[in-house]
Amino acid sequence: MPELSDRVKNLQPYPFVVIEQKKREALAKGVDLIDLSIGDPDLATPEFIVESLRKAAGIPDNHHYPSSAGMMSFREAVARWYDRRSSIKLDPASEVVSLIGSKEAVGHMPLAYINPGDVVLVPSPGYPVYEIGTMFAGGACHFMPLTAGNGFLPDLDAIPADVCKRARLMWLNYPNNPTAALAPREFFEKAIGFAKEHDIIIVHDAAYSEMYFDGNKPLSFLEVDGAREVGIEMHSLSKTYNMTGWRIGYAVGNSDIIAGLAKIKSNLDSGVFQAVQEAAITALDSDESVLDGIRKTYQARRDAMYDGLHGAGFEVNRPGATFYLWMKVPGGQSSAGYAAVVLEKAGVLATPGSGFGGPGEGYIRFALTDGVERIKEAVERIKAI
Ligand SMILES: *Cc1c(COP(=O)(O)O)cnc(C)c1O
Repeated sequence: MPELSDRVKNLQPYPFVVIEQKKREALAKGVDLIDLSIGDPDLATPEFIVESLRKAAGIPDNHHYPSSAGMMSFREAVARWYDRRSSIKLDPASEVVSLIGSKEAVGHMPLAYINPGDVVLVPSPGYPVYEIGTMFAGGACHFMPLTAGNGFLPDLDAIPADVCKRARLMWLNYPNNPTAALAPREFFEKAIGFAKEHDIIIVHDAAYSEMYFDGNKPLSFLEVDGAREVGIEMHSLSKTYNMTGWRIGYAVGNSDIIAGLAKIKSNLDSGVFQAVQEAAITALDSDESVLDGIRKTYQARRDAMYDGLHGAGFEVNRPGATFYLWMKVPGGQSSAGYAAVVLEKAGVLATPGSGFGGPGEGYIRFALTDGVERIKEAVERIKAI
């Protein structure tokens, strides 16, 4: 049997595979586990979206290969959604492409723009696939540290000149996973100026744009002047509509960049099952009350967890968006060490910050993936450690 390729041999285990293993071990021991580890909503997809899939699945026309760029009716629904949300006008034919979830596109994007030796600017801590996709394309990552000191925004002035010269792509992700930070308009403006100066593509991963609290709707990257000249934004129905298992998202923005990504995709995948696209159209065209209901649920959980931890003296930011709490590990312990203690002594599963990259060391991430009562229970158990 031939050996695995270097690119696979060099991979660390995907962080959540390790956590799944810990979860199985704890459950086998009979632990009353509260699982706040993985960014996968515990809530069901709204019934009217499921019903739309049921109907569409029965139509034989939907059983064929879909177009890899997405049905025109789906791309039009995305354009309507952007117009309604942010007054952004998109041409569905050239400025929208469907994705098999955004993870797929995060992984594939570098294949469209990165030659061996090119640099990708990657936030750290960050979603692991930014780095992995770069590596698969033969590119090199330059990590941009997100720290409390810089408000969890990359310090673009700190990127060395030779790196700027070799950089082709920059990933940004706000509202941010794992830090729950938001980006102000001024930051996006600065990033766009930087991208123009150094001829770099910005891809803004907006997976959490609809998971916000206190009525403060985060900016779409495309709302910022000049964004469409340098970049695209990726979105997904996964977190927004509790549809992680459905695998559907979309990228929008600069038509040349959309065409570049679509070219890779048309050679590797054959698009999203049309019945899933039909259900996604139903979701995107639904009124805001659906999302308001989902946001209310997460906001109550956020309040329970933040008030509990903050009240007990833990150093944790109050998230304005996402369903994550990014908490400083107490007493100078390591991320992995503290996560192990929290699991062993409190029966709470969380993600060590170090799993998201070096600058995540010293933090732990809790996901709001259980009900208010269980979250309160988790906080009490953590306080008692
Ligand atoms: C969850 C997540 C994604 C991937 O979501 P899909 O289900 O693949 O659409 C992308 N980026 C970030 C930052 C995420 O947290």
